Amino acid sequence: MSQCAKQCMKMDRRVFLKTAGVGGVMLPNLAGDAGAREDQDEKHAGEKNAVSVRPYQLLCVFCSIGEGKDGDEKIEKLKQVVRDHPDVPLRIVCNAGDVYVYQDPGTREDSPEGRDFNRKRDLDILQRMSWQPGTVLPARTVFRSLHKHITTVAGICGYGTVTSPAWKGCPKAKSGCYEKGRQQGVQAIIPPRTEQEMAKEKERSIQAMLSAKEITIRPHILLCAVCQYGGGTRPPFKADNLPDLLQMILTKKPDVSIKMARQADWMMCGPCPSRVAKLNACVNVLGSGGLSNEKRDLDMLQKLGLNFGSVMPARKLYQLIFERIPTTQDICKREGNQSPCVWWDGCGESNCKKGNANYEKGRKELMEKLQQV
Ligand code: SF4
Ligand code: SF4
Repeated sequence: MSQCAKQCMKMDRRVFLKTAGVGGVMLPNLAGDAGAREDQDEKHAGEKNAVSVRPYQLLCVFCSIGEGKDGDEKIEKLKQVVRDHPDVPLRIVCNAGDVYVYQDPGTREDSPEGRDFNRKRDLDILQRMSWQPGTVLPARTVFRSLHKHITTVAGICGYGTVTSPAWKGCPKAKSGCYEKGRQQGVQAIIPPRTEQEMAKEKERSIQAMLSAKEITIRPHILLCAVCQYGGGTRPPFKADNLPDLLQMILTKKPDVSIKMARQADWMMCGPCPSRVAKLNACVNVLGSGGLSNEKRDLDMLQKLGLNFGSVMPARKLYQLIFERIPTTQDICKREGNQSPCVWWDGCGESNCKKGNANYEKGRKELMEKLQQV
């Protein structure tokens, strides 16, 4: 790594700690843990320290975007932390009491409408999201899930009937600001990867793959490659390098070595819009796709009797896959995991009824082709 890049990372961490340490958004772990964490990899500093927030403050972020002007100090600090560290863990705390009293933050950050209104508003949000008080999730998952599931603040931040002054609600509840902010999408909070960056990574990772003695890949996307093939996807393909890999196996190097790698390994996932380079992470679905995909990888390794780090020639590996995995169902289905559960994803849902038909088609076609090469 160049000195310049190292300097940038140090700056980044200083700015983050400075931002996090000043009042407003509650950051309970940072001050005490910062010294003890000095030896941690600096590039992950922003992603390892949970930031405590109230549920209503998350909605206020969309509201301030819709209003077109800055929110109060704590909302602006929250926005900045999330913009700089989109996968920072957020600890979502509220005054739930009862057996959840361990995480109650107190009323210090209540908005002025009163204690009971503040409690109800926070609990209304948690209940809609199926989140428990004190839950910790990556910020990207939090904002994408909220964006999907809370389409309006009507009934949350204000009510159709005001039954007493204590229940008059937030003055902005009927302004349409939240709904307008939500229309701008999560990209108004967390900028997506740029087209330029992804195109550059496509070129670099394809070159690396074509010249590699050993190709690294997370296990379950060997199946995704078959689904794509059965569905007719062929190179050039922008979002990943799987069609290029199959083409290489079928036309040039049928016995190239394939190594099982963890997470969103660069050689295949480099150009994907859902890849977070600095974490080597997959943030598809609602930001939590990497979790379900890690389990798919492990399920697949168990079926094949392999491990992360195992190496096999491509043709033999695919023969083993086709023999032991006739359908995507065992690897991909997610029964009983409805969104916003972090285990939910589209493939998981569609595989509950039957396996992916494109996989079955691709498997048949590729079995024949691999016998001919
Ligand atoms: S069904 Fe499974 S193997 Fe096919 S694309 Fe979806 S996750 Fe990948
Ligand atoms: S980053 Fe995730 S979605 Fe993208 S290709 Fe890799 S595993 Fe698939």
